[in-house]
Amino acid sequence: MAEHAQRNITARDLELWRMPSIQQQMPVVFSKDARWDEYDGHCASCGERIPAQDLRGIVRHPLATVAEIEAVGVCHGCRLVTRFLHRLHEDMRVTGLTRGGWGEWHPCPSWTTRLRAGIRAVLVAALRDLFRR
Ligand SMILES: [Zn+2]
Repeated sequence: MAEHAQRNITARDLELWRMPSIQQQMPVVFSKDARWDEYDGHCASCGERIPAQDLRGIVRHPLATVAEIEAVGVCHGCRLVTRFLHRLHEDMRVTGLTRGGWGEWHPCPSWTTRLRAGIRAVLVAALRDLFRR
């Protein structure tokens, strides 16, 4: 399993870094009731939120019900690159790469409007949790 934080930049990291920010490629909309408005990444070393313009890569749509985000984020404080690979699902699950393998989260137990408003905070918590394992 590759480390999430490293000092050796690969060719793929550079490719992703030359792509638009993930923020520019949001939202991911599956339907009126299933959409992701934001995607935040945190430095795998210090845990600080990576500024939106420094989190870059690609949002792919391999299936109608799945969006896959592959990105790199640069923490200027740590001078480290953190890699991100997550899938956002139509049923509002998040799956993705962790140090322990492929993980799954349920940031939102249902699709109600009230809970949708809370997705960002919960998703951020889930992403932070990735790197504490
Ligand atoms: Zn950092």
